[in-house]
Amino acid sequence: MKKIIIAIDGHSSTGKSTLAKQLAKTLGYIYVDSGAMYRAVTLFAIENNFIDKKHLDKDALISAISGIKIEFKKDALGTTTLFLNDKEVSSKIRGMEVSNLVSKVAALPEVRKCLVKEQRQMGQQKGIVMDGRDIGTVVFPNAELKIFMTASAHTRAQRRFDELKSKGETVDYDEVYHNITSRDHNDSTREDSPLTQAEDAQVLDNSTLNHNEQFDLVMAWVASKIEKN
Ligand code: C5P
Repeated sequence: MKKIIIAIDGHSSTGKSTLAKQLAKTLGYIYVDSGAMYRAVTLFAIENNFIDKKHLDKDALISAISGIKIEFKKDALGTTTLFLNDKEVSSKIRGMEVSNLVSKVAALPEVRKCLVKEQRQMGQQKGIVMDGRDIGTVVFPNAELKIFMTASAHTRAQRRFDELKSKGETVDYDEVYHNITSRDHNDSTREDSPLTQAEDAQVLDNSTLNHNEQFDLVMAWVASKIEKN
């Protein structure tokens, strides 16, 4: 069967990666969480004191960028884990400290250029599902299927709050809500590769769709794109 590229973009905490993982598993495609890559660079910047709440040393981060190694690896259970310079950081990159600073790092054109190059290389053979903010607009403008996901801010904040709590993080709902809405704002208004809906994207508002309804709808889109290509 012909392989395609599936680009999933959208607002924060809309369930992009859950959908992307399920699609990749069903289709036997590679799954790439591009947000995890921006989060890894942010963690690197925090650990090297290039960024905190009040300052960002752009020049230091940019000159260190070629030394950042980001790798996705499968663990013994088949779960994808993320390694930053040979250290496993899958949980650390999901914490609030990284979440609160990642938009600043992701707004730097030099960081984007470097990660977009790696993302394009991963998609050379097609058969890939990638989720993020600029996948259908910048990384793979020729992707056969582009999906733009959204949902109400409250629905999204509640989902992320539940997810963080289930992982044992001490979190405050208002902080999560604020983080999501301010990331949406920063991601949509930045100069380089802002979050926008590609003209040819299918919009998926999942505020009221359940998991199965959403998956069936998207699989119908996938089937029609595979048939056409
Ligand atoms: O997808 P996730 O919410 O983990 O992404 C974290 C942050 O990384 C986003 O808020 C955004 O600032 C940045 N990002 C981006 N471009 C992408 C993916 C993520 O700018 N393709």
